[in-house]
Amino acid sequence: MKNLLSIQDELNSGSLKLPDLVEQYINTIEEKNGTVNALVSFSADDAKKQAADIQKKIDAGTAGRLAGSVVAVKDLICEKGKKTTCSSNILRNFESVYDATVIEKLAAEDALFIGRANMDEFAMGSSNENTIFGPATNPHNSEFVTGGSSGGSAASVAAGMCNFSLGSDTGGSIRQPASYCGVVGLKPTYGRVSRHGLVAFASSFDCIGPFANSVEDAAIMLEFLSGKDPMDQSSSDRPVDTYRDAVENDEKLTIGVPNEYFGEGLDDEIRSKIEEQLKQLESDGHTLKAINLPHTDYAIATYYILATAEASSNLARYDGIRYGHRADFEEVEEELKKEQIAREKRLEVATGKEHERLIEEISKADSPLTRLYKNSRTEGFGKEVKRRILLGTYVLSSGYYDAYFAKAQKVRRLIKEDFNKAFSDVDVIVSPTAPTTAFKLGENQDDPVQMYLNDIYTISANLSGICGISVPAGTHSNGLPFGIQFMGDSFKEQNILRAGRAIENLQG
Ligand code: GLN
Repeated sequence: MKNLLSIQDELNSGSLKLPDLVEQYINTIEEKNGTVNALVSFSADDAKKQAADIQKKIDAGTAGRLAGSVVAVKDLICEKGKKTTCSSNILRNFESVYDATVIEKLAAEDALFIGRANMDEFAMGSSNENTIFGPATNPHNSEFVTGGSSGGSAASVAAGMCNFSLGSDTGGSIRQPASYCGVVGLKPTYGRVSRHGLVAFASSFDCIGPFANSVEDAAIMLEFLSGKDPMDQSSSDRPVDTYRDAVENDEKLTIGVPNEYFGEGLDDEIRSKIEEQLKQLESDGHTLKAINLPHTDYAIATYYILATAEASSNLARYDGIRYGHRADFEEVEEELKKEQIAREKRLEVATGKEHERLIEEISKADSPLTRLYKNSRTEGFGKEVKRRILLGTYVLSSGYYDAYFAKAQKVRRLIKEDFNKAFSDVDVIVSPTAPTTAFKLGENQDDPVQMYLNDIYTISANLSGICGISVPAGTHSNGLPFGIQFMGDSFKEQNILRAGRAIENLQG
């Protein structure tokens, strides 16, 4: 795969024309998307038109700094005039009326947007199987999942349908599919990249970030994605670093190796191959340091309390009234009428306690509006999303709030403190990105907890708001790729990029 800078050299010298490059991507999409199912909406005509427009600017010498980048966008980042479905029935026909800030920023530098990428519904999942479009499949072997929730974003780059994509990472959804598909995936520090125009899942965790073929490409893209946005009050006004220069910096790093991330549950071959690479880094002059992150065991439980709580609140807006899927109102009225008639019949013959119960039931019967909400949401949301809304509503309910939500917030703080302490001694923390390579389609679908364990190494970075990158670290004997993860302190993206580049250098 050519990197962006070499594509740009060719575009600038005239030896490559953007419409020809885009034609290659279109051919790959037409050849592979039927199986990989990475893109859920795509228009060859639209891509060709964008390519012709940008080529004119290249010819005139006025093209932006991302000309030559061809980007797939996860189907939960708004692009004006295009569908943003979140892979959900409730938004199946929803069209964005504005561009997300990240889209505006990339468009201003002449990135080309090639299509919308498949994902788990509302970014909830680790396999890209929770989707109304059917699962995305792993480009290395179509019997296996891509990972998720940004599975389509990872697979589109891995399959050569584009050279970049955007994903979102709430608990690992950029890094884990990057690992499963063998591409680079970067989750920035919380607040580094604007979330304006990103459909919210868990607002204190969500981050937009890039997928790319190389660490350098990810660094370039990150530079243009980052920065303060008046439309997102949680975005940081810290100046944006020159991430590309960081990749060139080969000063040696102190790399923390947390015991807790190499223990039980990790595939033996992944463990030994990563350990081998760490030894090589050490012989290249980097320093390895054993560290502890003692609250790691609590990360998954803490995340599934806090993220579901935030999700239940964020997803309350899908009521079938303002936008999104609306149940049939006539059916609602009919349903209510039938229920009322049935109750009246029972009331005629009821006595004593049964009579009292029925009177109570009648007083609590749904209004037409309430039933419309209920039916719209029942029809609109898939199983996993419903599970999260129920869990989140439960942990926020009075009586359980202190026991679950408030407690989990305290544990989140302890996890963050583990990292603060670690980063006083080390530049980056290394771990596998996921415990295994991609699993087979359908394998974990009936076991949500097993599915949740996939994010065991990625989720703490979201709980702490720090940055992380997954870089391809080799191929397993089962033929599938796996990644290595580097986590860095908040706003220390340069460090994880440098570490990622050091791993790339080992792969030759
Ligand atoms: N797999 C995790 C979940 O299902 C993380 C998802 C994400 O990062 N969007 O919640």
